[in-house]
Amino acid sequence: MQNTAMECSPREEATTTTAVYSPSTGGIVTAMDWSEDGAYDVSIEKILTSMREVPNGDHFLTPNELCSYDDMATTIVVDSIMQFQTHKMNQRRRYIKTQERKDTFVIMEDFTKNNDFMATLRKIFSLKSVRQFMAHQTDSKRAGFRDHLLRFLHMFSFKSGFTIEPCDRYSAEHNQGCKLVVTRHWLKGERIDRLCGVISELNETEEEALLRKDQNDFSVMYSTRKQCAQLWLGPGAYINHDCRPSCKFVPNGRTAAIIALKDLRPGDEITCFYGEHFFGDSNERCECSTCERLGRGAFLTLDENTSDTGSGSSVEGDSAPARTKYGLRDTDSRLNRPCWRPTTIH
Ligand SMILES: [Zn+2]
Repeated sequence: MQNTAMECSPREEATTTTAVYSPSTGGIVTAMDWSEDGAYDVSIEKILTSMREVPNGDHFLTPNELCSYDDMATTIVVDSIMQFQTHKMNQRRRYIKTQERKDTFVIMEDFTKNNDFMATLRKIFSLKSVRQFMAHQTDSKRAGFRDHLLRFLHMFSFKSGFTIEPCDRYSAEHNQGCKLVVTRHWLKGERIDRLCGVISELNETEEEALLRKDQNDFSVMYSTRKQCAQLWLGPGAYINHDCRPSCKFVPNGRTAAIIALKDLRPGDEITCFYGEHFFGDSNERCECSTCERLGRGAFLTLDENTSDTGSGSSVEGDSAPARTKYGLRDTDSRLNRPCWRPTTIH
């Protein structure tokens, strides 16, 4: 999750549903001609009228499509609000034009106030970069992108019960990343129903073509059950690891549900357990808050007893082995105590 600071530039052109003239490209629309442009608008209207606010729990995207759709969706929906570039599978590609950053910011600012999913999607599909991105896609792929956008829009929906916030905990993200937190009470065992991970299995060729070690392999898990690497994207990719997680992933075909492992209160972070050795052997480089509290992982000092792992699986039936033992006698009341933060003295 290498994140790069990004600044908005002033709006240079208005976004309209039929705009063809573009000052930024010298008046030429490169991806479509007039007839294709009209067909695109008809296609998008059809796709919008058939949308479901909470998409089906499945998708039909190839790994390559999932990567580029995810990058485009996070660029428009998440980065516009966070005001920095969050994780990308293709870190070199520019997904939207510089002059459209202000447009996406305005679109998302409006969405946070009115939660109008259809109007927001209509504006997003009207962006010149999105029109070009979707120009030669089939209607079913356009619908797949619509659903992927919807999954991220729920981060800013009044109904979802969770949202995304900046997080400066992790050095791998240069201390500029994100976390998901709940905005309402959730009971232990409840499914956070508008949050999901989107999974795509990778064969060896796809692994080689798509993944770059330490650059974009932040969200790859190995399924011991299926004996293959899996890409985990969608909003669930913003869930951070914790050695004593608050939630767990439950894979369901090509998506993953998120279930609360304990009662959650507004402000609690949604965390899951990535695996026993995700951050080095026995997670020795783990920077999670549990490791910090217990002086483990990256916070281990030489005089600590290193024999206990204190970790727990939160991926059901997959890559993370089940918890074998607890290191310290933590009680839930200790683990759930509010974080104490020192007051800044001026
Ligand atoms: Zn940890």
